[in-house]
Amino acid sequence: MIELRDLTKVYREGDRDRVVFRDVTCRIDAGEVVVLMGPSGTGKSTLLNLVSGIDLPTSGDVRVNGTSTTSLSERDRTVFRRNHIGFVFQFFNLIPTLTVEENLLLPLELSRRVGPTDHERARSLLERVGLADRSGTYPDRLSGGEQQRVAIARALVHEPQIVLADEPTGNLDTDTGRRVLALMDELVRGSGRTMLVVTHSPELVTLADRVFDLRDGRLEERSS
Ligand code: ADP
Ligand code: MG
Repeated sequence: MIELRDLTKVYREGDRDRVVFRDVTCRIDAGEVVVLMGPSGTGKSTLLNLVSGIDLPTSGDVRVNGTSTTSLSERDRTVFRRNHIGFVFQFFNLIPTLTVEENLLLPLELSRRVGPTDHERARSLLERVGLADRSGTYPDRLSGGEQQRVAIARALVHEPQIVLADEPTGNLDTDTGRRVLALMDELVRGSGRTMLVVTHSPELVTLADRVFDLRDGRLEERSS
């Protein structure tokens, strides 16, 4: 489902090159839940942004469901991302001026006309994350855990094959974080989707099919 081949990312800083990682190769199969760990600044967010096509590698190839996204135009990469990928962020990234339901429908509105079945799907997802009665509420009225549950529903509303999450519990207390991770795991596994999560949470390691560590510019799989 996700194939990274010899990915290298170098940032130019003044007249020096800063190598974030070099020759990262990895294959994630459909339906796998994979955790990516590593100290701050090692390139975990950069790697997720390469998988989603928000960012491009200095060299190497990213293949998602058979498509080489690194060779697409920026426009086509954006369309590909909107169709195939759902993203959950550390700071939720809900739009404050939109209600919960409007936030949920936004990923669909970006690519097409929204119809009655979409509203139905948004409602059913809100139910799954335990927020059916909050669809008309604005995000600032919700707790952090509730906002992240809305964000999880939003990441799934367009039925993406892949869910990427960048420290989704980094801004939540331990108990809330645990519940959010269990919910993500349940919703993603229940639908056979593939998930790649950056986290520092030891709980998710026990839920994951495989765990990778990114350190010193190399990606290493933990032996189970
Ligand atoms: P992590 O998510 O593991 O904490 P990041 O992927 O955010 O790490 O960043 C990896 C490294 O790349 C950091 O040293 C960061 O400063 C650097 N970096 C990230 N984005 C840029 C950028 N746009 N320009 C220059 N350096 C960057
Ligand atoms: Mg990061």
